[in-house]
Amino acid sequence: MPLTPDQMEKLQRWMEDKGVAQPCPACGNVGWVTEEMLAVPVRALTGLSESTPQIPMVESTCDNCGFMRLFSAVAMGLLS
Ligand SMILES: [Zn+2]
Repeated sequence: MPLTPDQMEKLQRWMEDKGVAQPCPACGNVGWVTEEMLAVPVRALTGLSESTPQIPMVESTCDNCGFMRLFSAVAMGLLS
């Protein structure tokens, strides 16, 4: 799901407040593309579950090498 303009603003403020490092750990580039919120299903130990819990995350991709990093959408306050 794409982030709304309000969520993008919250995300930028959160990253500044937390002092999130900008250089990519793989290539040193400082350009990131952040567009999507993911809801990753938690894998059951055995079998498949009808009601699989999900972990909401925001992905950010280095615009040079494609390295991806993930942040908790809950910790960022994007779901409140
Ligand atoms: Zn990179």
